[in-house]
Amino acid sequence: MERTFLAIKPDGVQRGLVSEIIGRFETKGFTLVGLKFMNVSRELAEQHYDVHRERPFFGSLVEFITSGPVVAMVWEGEGVVSSARKIIGATNPLTAEPGTIRGDFGVNIGRNLIHGSDALETAQREIALWFKDEELVSWQPHLTPWLK
Ligand code: ADP
Ligand code: MG
Repeated sequence: MERTFLAIKPDGVQRGLVSEIIGRFETKGFTLVGLKFMNVSRELAEQHYDVHRERPFFGSLVEFITSGPVVAMVWEGEGVVSSARKIIGATNPLTAEPGTIRGDFGVNIGRNLIHGSDALETAQREIALWFKDEELVSWQPHLTPWLK
């Protein structure tokens, strides 16, 4: 079953949006398989954002993601990688559609509340980077067998 990596960034935690954000994936019907509340080391931040290493905002990106605790998560479900990106919305909250997390709660591109893997291979890389195998829980929601 397909899995994706999501992380509520420090602004989402600071603004008290953790339950609101998690709720959107839970009520959509995806399955939570990994969750941890943690501070991010500079090393992990730099590895996570490695593709952006040459971008002018790389320094501030790493600075921000290490500035306070984040909620790191793995979610499972059919098509969850691209569906989660839709639920999250466009990178710039000002152009993200209303109804998306960034469209509803953000105004600043550097403070856009949540990270979501952008493709299957990225998801696999990010899950392996943030979680150990034993931190992921394989289970089936009994009440919703029609989702599987
Ligand atoms: P996304 O998070 O939507 O996948 P990217 O992978 O392109 O977006 O960028 C990673 C993060 O870097 C974004 O979520 C955003 O917080 C930040 N970022 C992207 N572009 C800019 C920019 N032009 N200026 C400042 N920060 C940016
Ligand atoms: Mg990205």
